[in-house]
Amino acid sequence: MMTCPVCGFDESRLAKSLRFGCSACYTTFTAHIATFLPRLHRGVIHTGKQPPALTVAELERRIDRLVAKVQELAPGSPEATGLCQLQSSCHAAFDGNQRQNHPA
Ligand SMILES: [Zn+2]
Repeated sequence: MMTCPVCGFDESRLAKSLRFGCSACYTTFTAHIATFLPRLHRGVIHTGKQPPALTVAELERRIDRLVAKVQELAPGSPEATGLCQLQSSCHAAFDGNQRQNHPA
C-alpha cells in the first residue's frame, strides 16, 4: 500500500475519496493515479495529447459518464453530490449555449 510521506494519505483513501491529502500526494500517487484514472475518467481526462475541441454533446456525454461513475464508486459522497450539481450547471449552460449557437 502506497502512503504519502507528508500527510499519510494512502491509496485506498485516494480511490475512495477521489481526493488528495496534500500537495505531495500528487507526486506520491502519480503512478497509482495513472492506473485508475483512465478507468474512472475514461475519455474525460486525458493524460497525453489534448484531443481536438469537443462538441457540446460530447462534453455532456462525458460529464454524464463521469457522474455515473463517481456515484457508483462513492454514492452519497460530497464528491458525487458536487458532481451532480456541476452536471446540472453544465447542462443548463450547454442548453443556453446550444440555443445561442444553433437556434432551433
Ligand atoms: Zn499527502
